[in-house]
Amino acid sequence: MLDVARLVRPGIGDIEPYVPGLTDDELQKMYGFRRVVKLNANENALGPSPLAIQAIQQELATLHHYPDGASERLRQAIADFHGLSVERVLVGNGSDDIIKLVSETFLEPGDEVVVPHPSFSQYSFGAAIMHASVRRVDLGPDFSYDVEAIADAVTDRTKLVYLCSPNNPTGTILTRAQAEWLLQALPAHVVVIFDFAYNDYSLNPERVVGDEGLFRDERVVALHTFSKLYGLAGLRVGYALANESLLSYVNRVREPFNVNRVAQRAAAAALTDAAHRRASQEHARTSRAFYEAECQALGLRTTPAEGNFILVRTGDGRATTEALMKRGVMVRTGFAGLSEWVRITYGTPEENALCLEALRAVLAARV
Ligand SMILES: *Cc1c(COP(=O)(O)O)cnc(C)c1O
Repeated sequence: MLDVARLVRPGIGDIEPYVPGLTDDELQKMYGFRRVVKLNANENALGPSPLAIQAIQQELATLHHYPDGASERLRQAIADFHGLSVERVLVGNGSDDIIKLVSETFLEPGDEVVVPHPSFSQYSFGAAIMHASVRRVDLGPDFSYDVEAIADAVTDRTKLVYLCSPNNPTGTILTRAQAEWLLQALPAHVVVIFDFAYNDYSLNPERVVGDEGLFRDERVVALHTFSKLYGLAGLRVGYALANESLLSYVNRVREPFNVNRVAQRAAAAALTDAAHRRASQEHARTSRAFYEAECQALGLRTTPAEGNFILVRTGDGRATTEALMKRGVMVRTGFAGLSEWVRITYGTPEENALCLEALRAVLAARV
């Protein structure tokens, strides 16, 4: 009999497959035509950019052709947007793809990866598939970054350090000053990956941004995605900005057609849609003010929410989430070390009001 467990590479059996929130189809099956307010995956409540939809429609007639494997036009559009040369841009099938590519490029068994905790699970996943070990560094008081602890966690075996700002699920940022201190403190042999999935939502003047100053450091990789601000999560496009030499190695590991042609066109169009981008930023701003005020009125603690979601301390997050679900509102919980918290993605104003109404009812029923 085939002993598969003995055939697979060490560590693969220990990986827990990623469990995403329910899909639209699953929701339909569970709830029939009853409305479900889906606030569990940090999706953009405003939907995709209309310019992206237009570009998608135009692209459909040529789906029998392979995409441009180098994603030349999209990479050029991204390069222009950031004022960088096109060699400094690598695109992926979502930034998840890029995290995996970077892991495959750099990690060997026994290597170490430093990740903030709690944070985005894909960093540890990338390490696990390469049988590298993960050093988790707890966030500090009020979920701020503890950069000294991060520097202390780095050893001779460390290859990658991840920094997620604003951090998912806490919403808190790494400051420019902390980033500069850390880059000074870290040795020359580590690659420092800034995940900026939510950074364009933040207005905080102290936040770190991927500008010329940051990219002068050859260890820096900045990750961006079209899934959040641009509302294209279903298409799967993300990108990395880094120095040319580093990306030339990651590019060797990349599948030839990792971003499909519809996604390439749509993402390039979305980048030109300044109105949609501004509306998404404004939506996050007003939603944050709404939730902060309402949660405060309910006596619930929140964290400084710099993304398109807010972390709320409701007590027993799992029970809260299940009770909200029964009232047709889906939020996310179950983050390591955050059993008393739920993460709520900003919906439309109407969805936010429904969420608050449900939350009030759930809390009232508890006492
Ligand atoms: C949503 C998210 C991403 C984006 O992932 P995609 O694969 O591009 O959809 C990346 N990093 C963080 C922290 C996220 O929350």
